[in-house]
Amino acid sequence: MLFPDGLECLLEFALVADSCVPVEGHAQGGQCLCAVGRDPYCFTGLFHCLLCAAAESQQMGPPDIRHRIGWIELGGLAVLGDGVVQIALEVQFVSLSSDRRSVLYSSNQGDIDRQAIGGACATGTHGTGSRLQSLSAAVTGARIVLASGDIVECNAETESQLWQAARLNLGALGIVTQLELQLREAYRLQEQGWTIGFEELLPQLPELIPAPRHFEFFWYPQNDSAVVKTIEETSAEPVYPLGEEGGRTAWSYELLPNHRPHLHTEMEYSVPVERGADCLSEIRRLVQTQFPAVRWPVEYRTVAADDVWLSSAYQRDTVTISVHQDIREDESAYFRACEEIFLGFDGRPHWGKVNYLDGDALAAMHPRWLDWWAVRDQLDAEGVFLNAYLQHIRPD
Ligand SMILES: Cc1cc2nc3c(=O)[nH]c(=O)nc-3n(C[C@H](O)[C@H](O)[C@H](O)COP(=O)(O)OP(=O)(O)OC[C@H]3O[C@@H](n4cnc5c(N)ncnc54)[C@H](O)[C@@H]3O)c2cc1C
Repeated sequence: MLFPDGLECLLEFALVADSCVPVEGHAQGGQCLCAVGRDPYCFTGLFHCLLCAAAESQQMGPPDIRHRIGWIELGGLAVLGDGVVQIALEVQFVSLSSDRRSVLYSSNQGDIDRQAIGGACATGTHGTGSRLQSLSAAVTGARIVLASGDIVECNAETESQLWQAARLNLGALGIVTQLELQLREAYRLQEQGWTIGFEELLPQLPELIPAPRHFEFFWYPQNDSAVVKTIEETSAEPVYPLGEEGGRTAWSYELLPNHRPHLHTEMEYSVPVERGADCLSEIRRLVQTQFPAVRWPVEYRTVAADDVWLSSAYQRDTVTISVHQDIREDESAYFRACEEIFLGFDGRPHWGKVNYLDGDALAAMHPRWLDWWAVRDQLDAEGVFLNAYLQHIRPD
């Protein structure tokens, strides 16, 4: 049920829920930042904060087309039926105008479009492209309802420390009701896809990766081959119906996200770009020698360096390597073995996917770890916005 007139319905809901309200995003994430159900995210006394968020969600300024900046309203508040409040906005809604010629759109996007913009930015979601940064790096401002119920706006000039923390916030600072993102005019893209043996591909990577706007491949263990995809900007007209992935010409928002219907668990680590190929070779050796039954591919993408405090691409150009397993199978032995390899290559885990690290390990790999926590803890000393996972990794 959506809240058409947020306040009244929310009041009713909060009374039923006895002022104990778990909050979550859009639930595409793999890491238990925000567990489903009541226990991990139980907000006693958050009612005032939620009321402010409901009122806030009705207001946002017009897009600034000239400066390519848009305020994104983070959906409405919705009750999912079991006491979970959702605040969500589909990434695709980054388009801010119905007139296609003046639509603003993000410079890059993840591989699917099921995420909400709030959850995607909260976890550093990214696409691929050696010159393109994550969605969090595009966040130029935010409006947040704090645990106190106060509403604060932040950007590079005002409340700049909070803004730095909010760009990738893990859902731990407060309820983000609006985001300001750096966008650009809508653009068209053309794909090229091909299959190649792994041994043949490997030496080509240094030339292949930096040339196109987007580059990625999936390595398939069963035949030791890679399905490569490059994407370039084009002035060519879109071709409909869109056709197979790897041969499409379309608007960016039609082509960047893909349909991925197979349910899976996923671990992704970011390693320095110059170590990516060696790291993948180690993962390949692991699969071939110790996990020959794994059928799921390994994905290889790139992300440009940024200055977002908890970003896995913080101050370094990055290769992301993702391993997958069927959701019905126990992935832990495979993923733990992969994690050992990733850590040996100076890897940093994706915040929305599986990892087995504790707070000390995360602190060692994120130079701004303590800065981020200092900002967070100052706003929410009692840990209203910390679930069990975040409590676990919180510095002592
Ligand atoms: C099939 C699939 C494909 C994926 N592809 C990619 C990819 O290509 N690239 C990539 O980088 N990642 C990818 N991911 C990971 C995914 O982008 C992240 O896990 C992302 O967080 C999911 O978004 P969500 O809105 O569903 O997040 P959720 O898991 O619902 O939320 C993530 C966190 O954000 C917080 N949050 C959400 N909204 C708000 C708000 N308004 N205020 C405060 N906190 C909020 C939540 O509380 C939670 O802590 C993929 C995941 C899946 C399942």
